Amino acid sequence: MTPGPPVIRLTADHIVPCEGTGDIIGDGAIDIDAGGRIVAVGPEVELGPEPEVAHRLGGLLMPGLINAHAHTPMTLVRSAGDGLPLQQWLQDGVWPREARMTPEDAWWGMSLGSAEMLLAGVTTSCEMYLFEEAVVDAVNHSGARLVITPGVIAALLADGDVAARIEEIADFHRSHHRPEERITVGFAPHSVYDLSPEQCGEIAARAKASDALFHIHLEETEAERALVLDRHGRSATQVLADVGVLEARVLAAHGVWLDETDRRLLAEAGAAVAHCPQSNLKLGSGIAPVAELLAAGVRVGVGTDGVASNDDLDLWEELKLAPLLARGVGRDPQAMDTVCALDLATRSAAQSIGLADVGHLRPGAWADIIRIDTDQPAFSPGLDLLTHLVFAGSSRFVTDVWVAGRRVVDGGTLTSVDVGRCVDEVTKRGRRLAGR
Ligand SMILES: [Zn+2]
Repeated sequence: MTPGPPVIRLTADHIVPCEGTGDIIGDGAIDIDAGGRIVAVGPEVELGPEPEVAHRLGGLLMPGLINAHAHTPMTLVRSAGDGLPLQQWLQDGVWPREARMTPEDAWWGMSLGSAEMLLAGVTTSCEMYLFEEAVVDAVNHSGARLVITPGVIAALLADGDVAARIEEIADFHRSHHRPEERITVGFAPHSVYDLSPEQCGEIAARAKASDALFHIHLEETEAERALVLDRHGRSATQVLADVGVLEARVLAAHGVWLDETDRRLLAEAGAAVAHCPQSNLKLGSGIAPVAELLAAGVRVGVGTDGVASNDDLDLWEELKLAPLLARGVGRDPQAMDTVCALDLATRSAAQSIGLADVGHLRPGAWADIIRIDTDQPAFSPGLDLLTHLVFAGSSRFVTDVWVAGRRVVDGGTLTSVDVGRCVDEVTKRGRRLAGR
């Protein structure tokens, strides 16, 4: 997409474009066109004449963070089932409450979560959830960017009619897939342990036919790996490979228990893994072998997962945990550098969920941009900004957020959503779902 003439200029002390190089532009500027795309990025002195509107911001500008795996309406069930292992957590803690959820509940849950993410500088999330209409509508209001992958969960289908649900999602793709309007649609079979290999293969064929994302939970717990090995005599990744799933554009969430053969299969297929370290730690699932995945050539993005296993949508925590865990587990301070860590929450995360023109700042990309207040103790002495961002950075330093050139957070205030109202609604509705 060729951008038009610039209409807005943002200037800052530093710009971190997140092109995977670690470059930092001093006294930089970003020009944005009327359609919300970036026209130019660079030192201000090298850009053309100033457009009519210029915001001289100071601080640091970088791309909005990308949450590669989320179930955001679960703000309604935040804290449910704490202390339970995954299967019991789902069956006893989460699913009974979700079974009482209405589309209106999901709308409020998504609205609150979208607000929470935008205020934290997370401009895009890849959502795996039911109630897809409500999720899209809530994000249309909040102004965030969304990859919605409606879920297929056999265990929760009252009539057990998986084929009808697949048809429903294909229809939804036709009616709602609007990348130019911030909404991208994919397919989300829950897991290999919930669906048959044939059902996974059918969903992958549908996803492939519409060039849509195939988003699945994969190898989250040791018990899940054992169950699939017992049932199919091979790993979940091998099961997916055998029915042709890996020919689709695959995003596998978690990947904690992937072995070397699985990692090779995913790398060869160009599949991506959504690394959700905080969720994996909270549920006691383990620690994904991220350094090994990256070394094998698998694309990785970080995700929060649902808030009942996190318990928030603050992706800065994943951005910090990914290198800390890789270094700690590998007993190697070079296991993941700060450029790679930032990449996992920006450009690489965007590519993992099928978006090429967000997650980095370059001409032609969407103007999904956040401003960080670097006039803070945590950014002093400012000698290594990338290290400050990854290890001392935080959502609390995010002051302003633009999505497609529209300022949705202005000086720390969300302009699109009434956050207080969302909190009241989710509090009331969350209590009802919990039977209180
Ligand atoms: Zn998940």
